[in-house]
Amino acid sequence: MPGVDFNRLRAEITMAQVLDLLAFEPVARSGWQWYGRCPLHEASAKRQRSFSVNLALGRYYCHRCHSHGNPIELWAAATKLPLYQAVIDLCHRLGRQVPWIERR
Ligand SMILES: [Zn+2]
Repeated sequence: MPGVDFNRLRAEITMAQVLDLLAFEPVARSGWQWYGRCPLHEASAKRQRSFSVNLALGRYYCHRCHSHGNPIELWAAATKLPLYQAVIDLCHRLGRQVPWIERR
């Protein structure tokens, strides 16, 4: 399998893009810090805010299921794909090229 340039993806894919794909709607905001229902674990309560995400830092954390990480890790957790498959899937959904690492 060819390598994926994870550093480039981390620099270019924003938390906002991934939240958009997950149809995340915050119930509360405080600057760049958004709170809402966790897209990763079952949560039926509409106004639940266990999920906390910082759009400026590009990090998320869920106080219930304790999942945390960057936008790529959020997508992997949401799709239950291994990281490698998740980034390829994410690139396709965002309509962008997968940044393969060229090996010689
Ligand atoms: Zn959760």
